[in-house]
Amino acid sequence: MASILLTAPMQGWATPIDEVPDAVFSERMLGDGVAIDPTGDCLYAPCAGTVLTLLPSGHAITLATPEGAEILIHIGLDTVALGGRGFSPCVAVGDTVERGAPLIRFDLDLLVREARAVVTPIVVVNPDRFSIVHAVSSELVAVGDPLMTLEPSDAVARRETNRDGATHERTVVVPLPHGIHARPAARLAATAKRFDADVTLASGDKTANVRSPIALLALAIRHNETIIVTAAGADASAALAAICDLIESGMDEPAEAPVRTPAVAASPSRPAVDGALTGVTAAPGLAIARARWFRPADIVVPEHGEGIAVEEARFDAAVTTLSTRFAERARSATGPERAIVEAHAAMLDDPMLHETTRSGIARGEGAGHAWRNAIRPQADALRTSTDPRLAERADDMLDLERQLLALIAGVETMPLSFPPDTILLADDLLPSHVLSLDRANIVGFCVERGGPTSHVAILAATMGLPALVAIGAQLNAVTDDTPVILDASEGLLRIDPDADTLVATQVRIVQAQVRRTEALARASEPCRMADGTRIEAFANLGALGDAHLAVDNGAEGSGLLRTEFLFLERDAAPTVAEQTADYQAIADALDGRPLIVRLLDIGGDKPAPYLPMAPEENPALGLRGIRVGLAHPQILEDQVRAILSVKPAGQCRIMVPMIASLDELRAVRAVVDRVAAEIGIGDRVPVGVMIETPAAAVTADLIAAEADFLSVGTNDLTQYTLAMDRGNAAVASGIDGLHPAVLRLIAQTCKGGVVHGRWTGVCGGLASDPLAVPILIGLGVTELSSAPALVPEIKALVATLTMEACRTHAAAALQCGSAADVRSLAREFTA
Ligand code: PEP
Ligand code: MG
Repeated sequence: MASILLTAPMQGWATPIDEVPDAVFSERMLGDGVAIDPTGDCLYAPCAGTVLTLLPSGHAITLATPEGAEILIHIGLDTVALGGRGFSPCVAVGDTVERGAPLIRFDLDLLVREARAVVTPIVVVNPDRFSIVHAVSSELVAVGDPLMTLEPSDAVARRETNRDGATHERTVVVPLPHGIHARPAARLAATAKRFDADVTLASGDKTANVRSPIALLALAIRHNETIIVTAAGADASAALAAICDLIESGMDEPAEAPVRTPAVAASPSRPAVDGALTGVTAAPGLAIARARWFRPADIVVPEHGEGIAVEEARFDAAVTTLSTRFAERARSATGPERAIVEAHAAMLDDPMLHETTRSGIARGEGAGHAWRNAIRPQADALRTSTDPRLAERADDMLDLERQLLALIAGVETMPLSFPPDTILLADDLLPSHVLSLDRANIVGFCVERGGPTSHVAILAATMGLPALVAIGAQLNAVTDDTPVILDASEGLLRIDPDADTLVATQVRIVQAQVRRTEALARASEPCRMADGTRIEAFANLGALGDAHLAVDNGAEGSGLLRTEFLFLERDAAPTVAEQTADYQAIADALDGRPLIVRLLDIGGDKPAPYLPMAPEENPALGLRGIRVGLAHPQILEDQVRAILSVKPAGQCRIMVPMIASLDELRAVRAVVDRVAAEIGIGDRVPVGVMIETPAAAVTADLIAAEADFLSVGTNDLTQYTLAMDRGNAAVASGIDGLHPAVLRLIAQTCKGGVVHGRWTGVCGGLASDPLAVPILIGLGVTELSSAPALVPEIKALVATLTMEACRTHAAAALQCGSAADVRSLAREFTA
C-alpha cells in the first residue's frame, strides 16, 4: 500500500503532539499525530476520505481515508463544553470529501475567548494499522502544505491489535436533563452489547462497565457532568463512537417538569389540614372509597445455601421466569409502562449483578441471600444521591430485588386483590405493585413516602388512577376501612369526611360521570352544531393504541398523526417498509376514516441519534419540523413514499409541520408529486400545512392558494407568538393559546383559507379546551382534532352551540386585552 500524505487542514503553527497541554493527546492515548495552533477560521480535509464521525457539537471530526487510516481532528481543547457554539460543520457523517474540502468553519475569536486552548490535534486513531513516517514540527503551515506522511504498520490484523490493548477514549458532557438514570442506562447497555468491545464510563474516580445498567446508575451521573468513555477491544472505535454519540444526542430525554420536591419532604410527618392529610399529586383525580393498607409479606431469605448446583439452578430459574414475565408485559404495554418494564428487564440482565450473585453462591450463600447482597448496595448508593430523581430510582432496584426473591422463595406476590372501591394506602409502593394492582377495585392510592417523579407516579398517571405521594407518617393513623375522599388534584386525602362533604364530593363525581356517560352514548353520532352546521371531530394520534381509543370515542378521523414516535429512540431511521406497516396499521384501525399524517417533526430539542445535528442555542428556532426533512431529503422522500403506499389510496393526507414560507411547501409538493408519479398514483395527493408560526398565519392567504388545507398547531403558534418557550416552567403560567394575539392570528388564518376555499382546522391543545372550542368555531375553524379520550365531550359541547352565537362570542374575544379576560368571557359563555 502506498504511503498517505496528510496536508495541513488549517493555517497556523504546527506543533509536536507532545506539547499539547492535554494528556489524552500528549500521551498519545488516542494515537499519534501533530497539532496546529490555528490562525485561520476553517478546517479543511487533510486528505480525500469519508466522514466517519462528526460530534454533534461540531468541534471534532474523524475522516477515514480510502486506505483505511482514520484521522481525528479535534478543534481546540475541551471545546465540547461550548456545546456547538462557534462551530458550523459543512459536512455530515457519511459524506465523502476531497482533499481541501471545507469541513468545519469555526469562530476563532470565540475559541480564543472561551476555550481552554485552541491548539488542534490531528491524530491517526488507528496507529495499529498506520504509522507516521514523517511529520513537520514547529513551523508555520498554510492549508494544503504537507503535514504528515503515513505508511501501513505491520500486517497484524486490526481486530487482534485492538484487542491487545489500543484503548480509545473520549470526553463527553452529559446533556441529559436528569443525568444517566434507569432508562438511558438500559439503552446504553443495550447499545454496548452490540459491539465486541469493553466500554467503560468514568465519573470522578468511579468507573462502570457500560453493559451494566446498575453500575451506570451507581455512578449517579448528573446533567452537564463531564465523563470519560473508554473502549478497548475489536470494535473499540465504533463502540466508543456509538456510546458517546448516543449520550451526546441527549437520548430524547424530555425536559420533564422540575422535580416537585414536597416542601415537607424532610419532615417525617405532614400536618393535617381541615381534617385532611396533604400530599404531593402523583396523578390527578377524585374518588370516594374506603382505605385499605397494603403491607407486603416478608420473604424468608436463608443465608446458607443447599449446595452450589441447587442454588444456581434456583437463581437461573427465577431469572428466566421473571425475564419472561417482563417480556410478556412489555409486549402488551405501551408508553411509560413499557419503558419502565424494559428498564427493569435491562437491570435484571445486568452482568455485574449476575457475577456478584454467582460469587456469593460459590461461597455457600443461598441464591436469595447472594442476590440481595449483590443488588442492595447498588440501591443504597442511589438512595443517598443528592438528585431526588436518582434517589427515586433506588425503589426500582428494591422492586427488582423483591420480585426475584419472591420467585426464589416460591412466594407468589401477585395479583394484589382488594374489595371494590378501595383506596390503597402503603408506606411505599413499588412499580411492580402498581402494575399488578387489581384495577377493577382499586380507585386510587396514597403513599407515605415516594416522589412525584417516581415510576410509581408515572404509572398511576398512565393508568388514570388518582394518587398522592409523600404524605408522611400521619398516614399511619388511618386505619383499614376508614371512609376517605382522595382529591388527588388538590393534593388532599380527607379522612372520615362528614356527610355534607361526602354529598358535595359525590355530586362533583356524579356530574363529571354523567357528562362523560352522556357524551359517550352519543359519541358515534356525526358532530353537528345545534343549528345543523357540520364540524369535524377528529383525534390526535401518536401510536396505534390511540387509533383504537379514538374510534371507541367516536372520532371521525385523525387530524394529526404525530409520526415522531416511529423515528425517536432508534439508532437508524425506520425503513420505508417499517413506516408503511405502521401507517397501514393505524389507517386500518381507523377503518376508512381520514388520516392526516404529519411529516416528521423532530430536530432541535428532539434529536434522533442518526441525524447529525449540532446542538443549538435556540432549538425552537433552529433545525426542526420540515426544515429537517428538507435538510435530509432521503428521510423526507422515504416518509412520503411510505405514506403514499398505504391502502386504500386517498385515506392518508400529508401535513407539513413548521412551515414559515411558501417555498418550503413547494419543495415538499415537488417531492410528493414525484413519488406519487413513481408509485403510479394519478390523483392529486392532498398536502396541508400546519400553521404554527406567525409567518404562516399572516400569509395564510398566500399559503392557502397552494395548500389543500390548513391546520393550526396552537401549541407552537402560541409559543412563537408570545415568545414563551412551551417547555419553560418559568413562563408556564403565561403561555395561553386564548391570548387575543393568538386568536387574531387564527382569525387571519381562517380568512386566508376561505379566500381559496380551503378548510382550517385546529390540532393543537386549544382543540381539546372546552372554553376555546366556541371561539375557534366562531373564528371559522371547521375541524377540531383533540385528545382521543376527549372527543365525546367536544362533540357534546359542539351540539349545544349555534354559529351565530359563536361568531358574536369570538368577535368579543378578539377585543379582549388578555388571555385571562378571554377566559372569563368564555366561562360566562359556557355557564
Ligand atoms: C402544535 O404545535 O400545536 C402541534 C399540534 O404540534 P406539536 O404539539 O406536536 O408540536
Ligand atoms: Mg407543533
